[in-house]
Amino acid sequence: MKLYFKIPGDFIRKPVILCILPMILFFILTQIPYGSYGTRIQSSLKSAPFQPLTVTGSGFVRNKNGKAILMCQSGSARKKIKIDKSRMRDLKAWKPQIVAYSRRHYMQNTSVLNPRVIVLHYTAMSGFPWNLVNSKRSAGETPGLASHYVIDGEKIWRILPDNVRSRGCYGINHVAINIEMVALNANHLQKKKKTMKTCAYLVKYLMNRYGIPLSKVYSHQDVAYMDRKRTPEVLDYVNGSPYGKVDPGEKNMRHIKLMIKKMKNFNVYE
Ligand SMILES: [Zn+2]
Repeated sequence: MKLYFKIPGDFIRKPVILCILPMILFFILTQIPYGSYGTRIQSSLKSAPFQPLTVTGSGFVRNKNGKAILMCQSGSARKKIKIDKSRMRDLKAWKPQIVAYSRRHYMQNTSVLNPRVIVLHYTAMSGFPWNLVNSKRSAGETPGLASHYVIDGEKIWRILPDNVRSRGCYGINHVAINIEMVALNANHLQKKKKTMKTCAYLVKYLMNRYGIPLSKVYSHQDVAYMDRKRTPEVLDYVNGSPYGKVDPGEKNMRHIKLMIKKMKNFNVYE
């Protein structure tokens, strides 16, 4: 490519028209679909959801090689949490079963999840919920129950990847990332402050990653009303009736959401 800089008249000659103008047009056109820098980040995250990356509260994203490490900063407090992948579901067996489940319950023939909401639960048991990893059936149909994450203290286990549907919350599995906190009941969880804090960090991280607002962080109890005014995403073609739940407790939800609200400076390394 040869450019002409001698006199202003030369500037509009063929090489400039053929090379620079198309480049400018290409740049402008590629910016239009993204609108703002923020949505551009979301878009890049969605296109490569499992690339190692770094997200900060200011919206800065960069690739970083390393293990699955979550590192957050809230005010002066720093947290370093690993996501343990040693107890994941066997995806080969899971995927065809969750496709069939999605077809029956949501009339959607897919296992793919594009997360739009996050639902919080307690496990209703005191030890690790192995049923979420191993169970084959629940309520007379396949697959077994499984959420995306299990949290106990500062420990986080990934059971399913974020882009695969779970069976953790009847009525919303087609759009939800499900997170379980290990606790017997709402009162037990209320005493497990570390577990709730880890949950707040994980939720904040997922909100950043998938562009989910705090108003779309639900309790299982919220979903169980099966009321579209309360949770517009709820849907089920097999049985859309409400079902009662105290999960993970209203006080606990308020506590976790308040912690998330307070997290202003936030860094994640995965
Ligand atoms: Zn639940």
